[in-house]
Amino acid sequence: MQDQGGSTARRILWWVLVPLVAALLVTLVWLAGRYEASQVQDTLDRDASAAGTDIREGLARNIQDLQALRATPSQPDWEAAALGLLRQRRELLRVEQRDAALQTLHAVETPYRKPIFERLPRSQAQADVRLACAQAMRLSQPAYSTSYFVPQVDGLGVEVMELCVPLGSGREVTGFVVASYALSDVLSAFVGPQLARNQEISFNETDGTRLARYGQSQRGRRTFSSQYLLDLPGNTLLLRMNSWRAAPDLFPNVMTALVTAMSIALVAVLVMLGRDMRRRQRVERDLADALAFRKAMEDSLVTGLRARDLTGRITYVNPAFCAMVGFSADEILDRAMPPPYWPPDLVEDYLRRHENRHAGGQQPPREGFESVFVRKDGVRFPVLIIEAPLINAQGVQTGWMSACLDISEQRRVEEVSRASQERLQATARLATVGEMASLLSHELNQPLAAISSYATGSRNLLQSGDVQGLDGALQRIAQQAERAGKVIRSVHDFLRRRDQPREPVHPQALWEAVIPLVTLQARKLGVGVVSRIPADLPQVLCDRTMVEQVLLNLVRNAMQAMDDAGVARPTLTLQVRRAERSDEPGRVWLEFSVADIGPGVPDEVKGQLFTPFFTTKAEGMGLGLSLCRTVVEQHGGQLSFEPNTPQGTIFRFTLPTADLPRATPDAAPPSHATTF
Ligand code: ADP
Repeated sequence: MQDQGGSTARRILWWVLVPLVAALLVTLVWLAGRYEASQVQDTLDRDASAAGTDIREGLARNIQDLQALRATPSQPDWEAAALGLLRQRRELLRVEQRDAALQTLHAVETPYRKPIFERLPRSQAQADVRLACAQAMRLSQPAYSTSYFVPQVDGLGVEVMELCVPLGSGREVTGFVVASYALSDVLSAFVGPQLARNQEISFNETDGTRLARYGQSQRGRRTFSSQYLLDLPGNTLLLRMNSWRAAPDLFPNVMTALVTAMSIALVAVLVMLGRDMRRRQRVERDLADALAFRKAMEDSLVTGLRARDLTGRITYVNPAFCAMVGFSADEILDRAMPPPYWPPDLVEDYLRRHENRHAGGQQPPREGFESVFVRKDGVRFPVLIIEAPLINAQGVQTGWMSACLDISEQRRVEEVSRASQERLQATARLATVGEMASLLSHELNQPLAAISSYATGSRNLLQSGDVQGLDGALQRIAQQAERAGKVIRSVHDFLRRRDQPREPVHPQALWEAVIPLVTLQARKLGVGVVSRIPADLPQVLCDRTMVEQVLLNLVRNAMQAMDDAGVARPTLTLQVRRAERSDEPGRVWLEFSVADIGPGVPDEVKGQLFTPFFTTKAEGMGLGLSLCRTVVEQHGGQLSFEPNTPQGTIFRFTLPTADLPRATPDAAPPSHATTF
């Protein structure tokens, strides 16, 4: 929701920004154009004003020249001087000398044109001359007439302006010099040389009527115009100067072009920014998705996750961790050591472990280590912690990341399984006993029969009065009773469930413990038993009851296999020797092997041999070998079998030796091999 609001606001900002920038750019270009135009206009104004001044000065010079004509009163001289003047001044069309009554005395025409008053007689223009001269008299200075159009014989015409220069001294006027100007020639003579190619200058009346022009007029192009009021005595002319630029000119000059280029660059940058922004938004969205995914993943985990910095301060916990320890994240995060879920009595140990790790000491094992935490309600529980260093993007370790598993349930299951395993073993022992009961009765029969016959013999001796022989008979009775007692005790010893810790035992002692029971069966089945147990072997560290049962099971299986197959001279060999295992070099193990010369294990049976309740015997339980393997593996050893040569099977199992060998009453007998 928040993200959506943010993106809407961003879009609105863009909608505002883009038109603003566009408006700014258009304004800039327009202003640059305006500035350029005003520059051109200023120049034109200056040019127009300069042209006006040039015309004014040129006209003033002409007046002086015309006044100078007064110095030559004789007609030929005057005409010669006037012609000279007309030759110099192309703008002058005609110069006349008139008397005080304005009658023409002499007149000279410009040599550059045909006489202009051919189509329109000169008399027709007298009104203008008169007005100019009247004005000149009134002002006591030369005056101009308004201009008028003089048609020419070639169909064109010329705009003419008269200048009347009064002659005389003081207020008395003795005559006039009248000069006729062609307005177009005035422009070409005084302004023409300075006029630029793209300029046009013209004389206009104040109402805008154009009278004469000079320069090239260019239509359809951008026109700048400047006006200058040429105020002459007796006449006012509007001097208008036009200038053309290439039209329509979008980039009138370098500055406008520069501003435009910068604007284009700005727009390009804006577009790029927009793209970048879109890319960023996409990345932001992806990042938010990834974060949401990670969060969902962390929240759904049943494994507690915890991150610590190098000082041990907790920087992150997931919900599963909080649920495990019963504290909220706020109660755990950013707190000084120790964290609240450490059992108070173990704090010192844990601190030492932490400091050791921080100092680069022993690092946590990859498979994790076990620890104990305490819940908020005070209940302790075991946890498995798998820890890995937390490395940041620069490759520097910033702390530790741990996955914590509550293993109390696992422990409970293990306990249940151990208990049921023990029950199974007890059951197996009972089964063995049941099987042995018949053997026992058979075995007890002999001493009991012997006792009975000795007792009968003793009675006979008593009756006959032979007391001497009685002692021997009673001794026999006692011996036989002891033998029967031994048989019973051996079964009792075996059956009594002893929950013993592991202890160092010599292999010979283990073997001797099962000899009475082995002998019982061996005798019945007629099996020869050979044992090879070197006296110098080290002791094994084991739960002797369990290992005795393993031995008994293997021996019993071997004898039964040989009996079932009806082997001719059944022999069973028990051998114990030193062994070393490649996975633990340097440590000495003892290898027990029970070899028979029976039929061997058929291929179809091999795969299931250790499966509980698998048996090929009618009265078998199929628990013997599976229990044997469990027991051996609990001791860290391995149980395996292989064919014996030339026939039969060898079962082997390994047991670890005790670290400190010690002499026990069970110590090895001197003999290296026994046979019975
Ligand atoms: P049980 O003795 O009650 O049948 P075990 O787990 O001890 O149960 O033995 C499982 C099976 O393994 C036996 O039924 C037998 O077929 C086979 N077996 C065990 N030891 C030997 C042996 N030494 N030679 C041949 N077969 C054997």
